[in-house]
Amino acid sequence: MKTPCLEIDLPKIEHNAKALRHMWGKYGIEVMGITKVDMGEPHIANTLNRAGITMLGDSRIEDIIRMRKAGIAATYVLIRSPFISDVKRVVKYADISFNTEISVIRALSKEALKAGKLHKIVLMVEMGDRREGILPEDLDDIIEEVLRLKGVVLEGLGANFACFGGVKPTQEKMNHFSLLVETLEKKFGIALPMVSGGNSANFIWLEKHSAIGRINNIRLGEAIFLGVETLYRKPIEGLYQDAFKLVAEVIEYKKKPSLPNGEVALNAFGESPKFEDRGIIPRAILGLGREDVDIDGLTPQIEVDILGGSSDHLILDAKESGLKVGDRVAFHLNYSALLSAMLSPFVKKVFRES
Ligand SMILES: *Cc1c(COP(=O)(O)O)cnc(C)c1O
Repeated sequence: MKTPCLEIDLPKIEHNAKALRHMWGKYGIEVMGITKVDMGEPHIANTLNRAGITMLGDSRIEDIIRMRKAGIAATYVLIRSPFISDVKRVVKYADISFNTEISVIRALSKEALKAGKLHKIVLMVEMGDRREGILPEDLDDIIEEVLRLKGVVLEGLGANFACFGGVKPTQEKMNHFSLLVETLEKKFGIALPMVSGGNSANFIWLEKHSAIGRINNIRLGEAIFLGVETLYRKPIEGLYQDAFKLVAEVIEYKKKPSLPNGEVALNAFGESPKFEDRGIIPRAILGLGREDVDIDGLTPQIEVDILGGSSDHLILDAKESGLKVGDRVAFHLNYSALLSAMLSPFVKKVFRES
């Protein structure tokens, strides 16, 4: 098998997806599977489907097109505000889009009318994390106009936490969000079928909540793929944390001094690296680098230390591992490493089906 490769265990992903669907489903909350980390990889989207997840969300319209063209039947949600220059594809390929700008919604409305379609709109509400969202006090005006626009229907409201500002979805925040939904429904005499309350960072809230309120949808990516909640990156009980594994190969193994020899300036990445004097150590170099993966997000699965890396080389203190040229080393990946490995054309993706 060619290396570096990313081994993807589909049954483990299916298990995680099913388990999460049950955990949230108990409270009437539907899980939207978020596929942006895998670029809408059809094997993975199919696996989510098999686990009973019928709503798939992605930030990239290209990923949604990829999944649709692979014939995966789902409700597709564009979870990043559409580009006003790209509304045609959004109306064509997404059933629902998340929105924060009325000018974009007007463009979606025009395009939907032209295409003879009804496009569903979820308005994102800014609840304090200070990434995307409409400030609660500005919602009235926007809703009033959305309700008047033809070709679009207001499907619901969404909130996002712990993405930019790291703001936690506390019970107080969640209550506030539900209250907003109810106030707006009453004021405009409407029903909002979808209330999307957050992402993998909402897991601790789910465990400790005193009220679910109106939340009936949650958008999960990292929890499904890596089996963790994302406020503290704590493993979720009963889920696999190792559905993905990155494997790389030893291309050099030599005993060398641990300290550089010579006058030291900046390295290839403009950093001035600091090295600890470990004396003469067994060093293994892997054929893996920053062109393949975000090396800071890797954890080796054997007793070795990552000393650093460049575009094409990862340097290990091989310790007592007994590694030799040609041996393979497996790594656990965090979300950032997973994202980069999925994206790299140099990393071969290998799917385990059973
Ligand atoms: C990426 C994303 C999610 C999923 O986040 P996870 O931490 O992977 O669960 C949810 N909502 C929005 C708007 C996103 O962009």
